[in-house]
Amino acid sequence: MTDLTKLNGLPRVKAAFLPTPFEEAPRFSQAIGGPRPPRVFIKRDDLTGLATGGNKTRKLEFLVAEALKEGCDTLITTGAVQSNHARQTAAIGARYGLKVILLLSGKDPGQAAGNYLLDLVLGAEVRFAGTDDEGEVWRRIQELGQELAAQGRKAFLIPVGGSVPLGAMGYVTATIELADQAMAAGVRSADLYVASSSAGTQGGIELGLCLARERGFNGHCIGISVARPAAEVAGLVAGLANEGARMIGADYLFSPEHIEVLDQYIGQGYAIPTPEATEAIKALARTEGIITDPVYTGKALSGFVDQIRRGRYFPGQPVIFWHTGGVPALFVYTQEFTRGR
Ligand SMILES: *Cc1c(COP(=O)(O)O)cnc(C)c1O
Repeated sequence: MTDLTKLNGLPRVKAAFLPTPFEEAPRFSQAIGGPRPPRVFIKRDDLTGLATGGNKTRKLEFLVAEALKEGCDTLITTGAVQSNHARQTAAIGARYGLKVILLLSGKDPGQAAGNYLLDLVLGAEVRFAGTDDEGEVWRRIQELGQELAAQGRKAFLIPVGGSVPLGAMGYVTATIELADQAMAAGVRSADLYVASSSAGTQGGIELGLCLARERGFNGHCIGISVARPAAEVAGLVAGLANEGARMIGADYLFSPEHIEVLDQYIGQGYAIPTPEATEAIKALARTEGIITDPVYTGKALSGFVDQIRRGRYFPGQPVIFWHTGGVPALFVYTQEFTRGR
């Protein structure tokens, strides 16, 4: 049994409403699974609560605690213009009195909407890097940190998605939380699906599932890539899970071959909607009243639906969808949902 003293002793601020709900979705199960469907459960991390919620809040609880411990006065991070991570960083910074600078990739789209609008409402300083090159954006963030240091300030730099081992701890603890809820609902074994991008979420889940197994819950994670090739995501996931295990003294080793990532639901690219995701978003909204988004959770949901329709699960078998948030991004995709209504 892994000793969780190190994990539980990590500094952490309290910004999310936890535990988030874990609920069954019977009407959605019927709608997608036919007359004898599997039992679909949804873990509601869209309800972590901070400025419209999402998965990054769990990571930021650890990252911001570290920033405060180091005496930082500023958070700097990056993401795409509709980054949920950037928006949650803006919100948590506001809550802890930290200045937030967002160096977003690409160009200013002109009109502020969705997450970008919320970044501004939350008082973050938003700049655009004018490039999508992640390495280049990170160099610029480091320069910015040095400029602030020269002015006597202290910045805490957060890589894209908060996907560093410390951030992944948010999903190690989340997975233990989910396993306890699943077992309380009589579910001791299940596959669980999650949108995977910068890999900190799935990395944390993979390590968390090892710890959950020690407690009697047998889970397998399937990451649905929303941007990168599966092998690349699996490599990042394994790396973060390994570093995370070392950080908390857990005796587990992860290799990319044992990480399941599916990349056939990306469509034409990151943040480009697919017809299947649009259909899945409507199906969940119209059966359960739950909102997902075209960039992350809608694509993950389209993969989830497809795997169920291919007969991967027997009737009544529990299967879990991890809703990671992303709701504000939906508001910039009006055409997909108004055309041919
Ligand atoms: C960032 C994000 C993800 C992916 O999490 P990673 O840790 O980057 O893999 C999934 N869903 C939503 C809504 C996100 O904002």
